[in-house]
Amino acid sequence: MIDFDAARGYSIPMRTRFRGITVREGKLIEGPAGWGEFCPFAEYDDRESSSWLATAIEQVAEGWPAPVRDRIPINCTVPAVVPERAHEIAANSGCRTAKIKVADHPESLAEDLARVEAVRDALGQDGAIRVDANALWDVDTAVNHIRQLDKAAGGLEYVEQPCPTIEELAAVRRKVEVRIAADESIRRAEDPLRVAVAGAADVAVIKCTPLGGVRRSLQVAEAAGLPCVVSSALETSIGLAAQLALAGALPELDFACGLGTLSLLDGDVVADHASLRPGNGYLPVPSTPPAPDPVLLDAYAMADPERAAWWRDRLARVRAELARASA
Ligand SMILES: [Mg+2]
Repeated sequence: MIDFDAARGYSIPMRTRFRGITVREGKLIEGPAGWGEFCPFAEYDDRESSSWLATAIEQVAEGWPAPVRDRIPINCTVPAVVPERAHEIAANSGCRTAKIKVADHPESLAEDLARVEAVRDALGQDGAIRVDANALWDVDTAVNHIRQLDKAAGGLEYVEQPCPTIEELAAVRRKVEVRIAADESIRRAEDPLRVAVAGAADVAVIKCTPLGGVRRSLQVAEAAGLPCVVSSALETSIGLAAQLALAGALPELDFACGLGTLSLLDGDVVADHASLRPGNGYLPVPSTPPAPDPVLLDAYAMADPERAAWWRDRLARVRAELARASA
């Protein structure tokens, strides 16, 4: 039914180093419902990777639940760059929402404020600005910086993961007016419900690919009981399609999603006309997964035999792990 031995490895250079990686790798799998993508980051163990495989298997074996909307607003992402570059990224993105990286280093506040002001200038007053601190602040720093950033932005949509723990998020949330979004806390939590019960967040960032598929993610979203934002795991268009299927099937979607990440890769395995790059700030909800272009599959084939063997073995081990877990 699914011929795992025929899975195709890919290796695509990153345009900019992201998450410490310079090349994105994974396997593409074909099944009766189309193509899926298995792309857990290299450091993830077999158990953690098994949910990534479950996402691919859902996609290739059964497809996705019916969507309730046909297009998804997308945010652009502004890394820790100088204000001029931040302005340019936001202005050229076509997006009405920008997510700005802050807290890049301990003395970053002045740079963060200037970056936020530059993006506000680029988007105009009706644009939405959110910032992501990737859990790098303590509670006092978070409260102080969020207040200043909110003022500089003329209003922040939300602050993503200001601090590491659920308790700290809850403490920050009690002290600031700005909404708090949980990202790392949702991804790593055994029980996403805990985030809501602890009063730690107003928004949940969810990623379909590491959560085990669209259906599983819809359950997590329901359990979290919070408005959700769907965010990428740096997939090609084939994996991004599942994330869009999730965003399309969520009963409510109040915020733009972080799925405009193909621009971080130097290429895609899907031909240009079907490639999931937001043109005017939106991406379509696909009814079926896109198929790879044979020419691009060859162009981005995993050339290093050692890496190819590593991914082949990994896929076999993770399949066994998934079978054990569901037995
Ligand atoms: Mg984040």
